[in-house]
Amino acid sequence: MDRYCLYCDRALAGRQDLRGVRPNVRIAFDSKNERVWTICDRCHGWNLWWTDDRAHALETLERRARDRARVLFETDHVALIESEGRQLVRVGAPPSREEAWWRYGRQLRRRRDHFTSSLTGVGAATYTAVSTLGRSLGFESVTGDFRGVTNRRVEVLRWRRFRGTAWCGRAPCPSCNSVLIRLFFFKSPDLVLAPDADGLPMVGLPCSRCDPWTVEKTYGFSPQASEWVLQRVLAWHNVGGATQRELDKAVRLIDGAGSAAEFVGTLAGRRQQLRQLPRIERLALEICVNDGAERHRLAALAADLEAGWRRADELAGIIDAEL
Ligand SMILES: [Zn+2]
Ligand SMILES: [Zn+2]
Repeated sequence: MDRYCLYCDRALAGRQDLRGVRPNVRIAFDSKNERVWTICDRCHGWNLWWTDDRAHALETLERRARDRARVLFETDHVALIESEGRQLVRVGAPPSREEAWWRYGRQLRRRRDHFTSSLTGVGAATYTAVSTLGRSLGFESVTGDFRGVTNRRVEVLRWRRFRGTAWCGRAPCPSCNSVLIRLFFFKSPDLVLAPDADGLPMVGLPCSRCDPWTVEKTYGFSPQASEWVLQRVLAWHNVGGATQRELDKAVRLIDGAGSAAEFVGTLAGRRQQLRQLPRIERLALEICVNDGAERHRLAALAADLEAGWRRADELAGIIDAEL
């Protein structure tokens, strides 16, 4: 392999072997045609390895992709695989599909550990003291205001992590044409999860002007904005994370629905407000929404990788024929 990117001259590796490749640089391999590339992390150019270096590297790459590896995303031609902290791109027919949503369960458990650590408790007490001082000086928009809250630790953690605003933009009410430009977290329990015209899950906030209010009279967010709002709002709601038992229950709910996407679809069909969802359903929803967002990101990445591979494959054919 070359140590510098052929296309933009960026250093890809310290040494001329697999172990020398920088962690952020993806390695692609095609076992059938015995090809290996390093994909530049700056220009995304596929750098074909020299024929002599390929055989040994392929052996290692195949083993890594098979053992202790997770398939993040795959199309009919390329798979993005994570193995030992590095992303590999496997070119060729896929073996099997794997659900990735359990990773978010792990994230919620870590959040729980952080939340229950004594440091957070001390931190909350200190922070409340700072906020009392801030309030007396007129800075409550910066330091928060925790008078009269039932769970100080939760509220301090929420404020420190998210501040007060969940979303800014323009969300119109189809009934009265008034527009929502800012969603505050404290209003987020009112959010309604419902299917949009195409059946995709979307959230809306009950219109404050329309009276009497119905589910149709909501400030509606686009599907992309809905995903983002839900990710943020659910992280705020579930700021304390979850215990293993709660996670097991949430996972059973998702399993029962068939898949993460089906779970969200079923929930949206009920047209409920977030405040009406039982805690376990809210946890399951956060897991599923994150999984969906990750899938959308990876789908875009996979399309990009597949396009890169098509160009690289063509070029490799020409180079190999000349050699
Ligand atoms: Zn490059
Ligand atoms: Zn309205």
